[in-house]
Amino acid sequence: MCGIVGVVFAEPPTGSDAVDVVLRGLKRLEYRGYDSAGVAVQIDGHGLHVTKRAGKLSALLDAVEGADGVAGSHQVGATTAIGHTRWATHGAPTDVNAHPHLSADGRVAVIHNGIIENYTVLRAELATRGISQVSQTDTEVVAHLLGVTLEDARTAGESITLGEAMRRVCRRLEGAFTLLAVSADHPGVIAAARRSSPLVVGVGDGAMYLGSDVAAFIDDTRNAIELAEDQVVEIDGRGARITDFYGDEVSGRAFTVDWDAAAAEKGGYESYMDKEIDEQPRAVADTLRARVDLSGRLMLDEIRISEDELRAIDKIIVVACGTAAYAGMVARYAIEHWCRIPVEVELAHEFRYRDPIVGARTLVVAISQSGETMDTLMAVRHAREQGARVLAICNTYGSTIPRESDAALYTHAGPEVAVASTKAFLSQMTASYLLGLYLAQLQGTKFADEIAEVVDQLHAIPDKIQKVLDGMDYVREVA
Ligand code: GLU
Repeated sequence: MCGIVGVVFAEPPTGSDAVDVVLRGLKRLEYRGYDSAGVAVQIDGHGLHVTKRAGKLSALLDAVEGADGVAGSHQVGATTAIGHTRWATHGAPTDVNAHPHLSADGRVAVIHNGIIENYTVLRAELATRGISQVSQTDTEVVAHLLGVTLEDARTAGESITLGEAMRRVCRRLEGAFTLLAVSADHPGVIAAARRSSPLVVGVGDGAMYLGSDVAAFIDDTRNAIELAEDQVVEIDGRGARITDFYGDEVSGRAFTVDWDAAAAEKGGYESYMDKEIDEQPRAVADTLRARVDLSGRLMLDEIRISEDELRAIDKIIVVACGTAAYAGMVARYAIEHWCRIPVEVELAHEFRYRDPIVGARTLVVAISQSGETMDTLMAVRHAREQGARVLAICNTYGSTIPRESDAALYTHAGPEVAVASTKAFLSQMTASYLLGLYLAQLQGTKFADEIAEVVDQLHAIPDKIQKVLDGMDYVREVA
């Protein structure tokens, strides 16, 4: 979702080094939006050094220069570094949850964009080996898995590359990911992987780059290689080796970046809105991700209101402002149709003053992209004072509205920069459908097979949106 950058120099550079290049790349990726940032540098003879901070990039830059920062004297001339800007999906935006994450032995550092769907299973498996997590993220399991994969290989007397460890780990992962890893025991190398998340390789003169898009390295090179689904790439300072997850070599598609730097900051689009429109299939798919089990049953474990309380709900009020209120109207259709519970949609600024009838069996659903919409927040506080249970549908992890609500259902649309809402709106609609189906499942107003059928249809929607987007030339012509 957010920003990823990596660089390996063939020779220790003079002047700027790998950390400078990564920080510059993160600055270029700022346009994507983020809530925290971090960098890991691999220093020959000194292992890995990680610095990360919640908040703005300036906080990271200060920390890098600070007493414990990676910019200590031994870092000058560093050849290998990775950096990340995070948009939290699992775990609040804190220093600890910021990336990179380290393996238990501290010898591998990982950054990740996306969602690891089966992280709870992997986390439980790691616990049986005595490895516990220090963060609340889904990402941390990948760092530990790489650590144990390398350790197991060593114990078996097998010497494997970081790329091979990455392939073995990727075969076990479900979900969407761009991953970059550096290891203290594999100097001058970055191993990276992608599935349903973007990753490009930059080919420089005496240096190789990785980025979640070309903006990450556009100051340094315009020669790039695009990776396909389910591929692993290993770069050193001189070149890249690309394989599938099983080790068969493949060749990436080479291309030359012809955008100027300003266009690159919008991912090559004319406007953020164009870019975000194109991100809609992904936003819907990510909002649906990991919320349905194999039998089509919804698992919204993150809603921490008890099932008994939700079964007793006999009235729902959606409070929201602007676009989110339109998503609320869709929620009304879905919930009334599937659950036979009356739903009111109320503009948040009216809610407080109208003196609505709210009781312990009322569920107030607050929808807000940012989680900071002041009128919606005031409505949430008012509803709770009146004894209602409040559930937030929100796109920004750890923001005020979900924090002050009884439960949150996060949309995973990624940051939305344009004022006119596109992908965030679609993901709010998707979350509203999930909520409606979940209530129907709990209240028994729909049979399991009926719910599973709607869920199947929801999963088909990202491809359908993509088809519409693919036909935009025709739409333009007709318009
Ligand atoms: N799921 C990961 C997290 O919450 C990565 C989020 C991102 O794409 O930035 O930390």
